[in-house]
Order: sequence, then structure tokens, then C-alpha cells
Amino acid sequence: GDILKKRKIAVLGSRSVGKSSLVVQYIENHFVESYYPTIENTFSKSVNYKGIEYDCDIIDTAGQDEYSILNSKHAIGIHGFVLVYSVTSRNSFEMIQIVYDKIINFCGIKEIPCVIVGSKIDLQQRQVAPNEGEDLAKANHAAWVETSAKNNVNVGKVFELCLAEIERQSPSSKAE
Ligand code: GDP
Repeated sequence: GDILKKRKIAVLGSRSVGKSSLVVQYIENHFVESYYPTIENTFSKSVNYKGIEYDCDIIDTAGQDEYSILNSKHAIGIHGFVLVYSVTSRNSFEMIQIVYDKIINFCGIKEIPCVIVGSKIDLQQRQVAPNEGEDLAKANHAAWVETSAKNNVNVGKVFELCLAEIERQSPSSKAE
């Protein structure tokens, strides 16, 4: 049919892991070498995934530490989460479980539709191995992918996986 399914996706993670770059690459198909620190932006995109048209709101958040990274606005009415760490920053990786647990606690459920993203794989200074990211995702029943916003590697995949996770965890969710 012509039902347009509305999907709200929040992108969370430590400062400068590349959240804005990922979202801008996805929405506008280009990479910005230096981006102004985000206050908070919502981007809209219509996405056809598996023959279904999704009307996506992607919220590029600006929290930067374990205290500010998640506010209620980012947990209420959100269908799916993209949690980003940089493969060049162990601190940003360790933040992922903290944020995941915060969302779970806030929502009062055991599982949330979630994609864990290891960003900046074009850089050489790796501090987080691929299998560490994969294991973390498995432990939390989340999807996982590594990306480079700079080289446009797996950027579309992030949001496809997120839509897939939303469908998997609430297959009956209807258009709003
Ligand atoms: P945010 O604070 O998480 O939104 O991070 P930004 O998107 O502002 O990115 C922080 C810095 O990392 C910027 O200088 C970006 O140009 C850079 N950056 C983001 N993604 C990549 C990437 O995939 N590869 C490389 N080499 N740099 C990136």
C-alpha cells in the first residue's frame, strides 16, 4: 500500500566519534573534514528498504559524556538507536555499554532496536578490534557494523540495519 512508516532514529555516542559526519554523509552524500560541534539536528529522509517506504527522522545528538549523552527526549518516541564509537578511541567504545544500559533502564525494557557502529576505519590508529565490537553487539542483541564516513563505507548499511532491527523487535508496529 501507500502507507508511509514513520521511524525516529537517534544517533548517540561520545563527542567527535563522527556522528554528524555519518549522518551528513548519509543524508547529503558528502564528507565534511571539520564540522562545527553539533547542538542538535534532526534530518529527514525518505528511505525505501525492502520495498517499503520509510519516512525517517534522524536525530544527531550532542551529548558528550555519560551524564549528558542521553536525555529523556532521546529515549521517548524513538524507534531505533545508532550508538557510535570510534575504532580509534577505546574511551568512546567503553561509553557504548554505559549508554545502552541507560536507554534500557530508561525505557524499562530488556532490549532495544539498536545498531552499534565502529567509525573511522580509514584511520590507522586502531584501539578497538573488530571482534570486540562484534562481541559487544552480540551480548546486547544488537546489530554491528564498522564504517568510514570519509570514504563512504557502510554508511547506508547503518540505517538499513537500524530499520531491520526495528522491524525485528516490533514487527507489528504501524505507521503513525
Ligand atoms: P561528532 O561530534 O560525533 O558529531 O563528530 P564529527 O562528525 O563532528 O567528527 C569529528 C571529527 O572526526 C571531524 O574532524 C571529522 O572530520 C572526523 N571524522 C568523522 N568521521 C570520520 C571518518 O570516517 N574518517 C576520518 N578520517 N575522520 C572522520
